[in-house]
Amino acid sequence: MGKVRKFTSERIEICRNCLGSGTVDALFTTKRCPVCEGSGRVDKTTEITITVEPHKEG
Ligand SMILES: [Zn+2]
Repeated sequence: MGKVRKFTSERIEICRNCLGSGTVDALFTTKRCPVCEGSGRVDKTTEITITVEPHKEG
């Protein structure tokens, strides 16, 4: 039997698509950033799974 460990971390980061402004420059106009939906920030979720299994020779 092995063991599986899961780690989840959430944090708020500045939106890289609009650099925190909430808007992106489109042709002749300024549009609301589709990534952060205008908030300028995004919730970033990181999931790490560590699987531990017994080592078997051969
Ligand atoms: Zn954005």
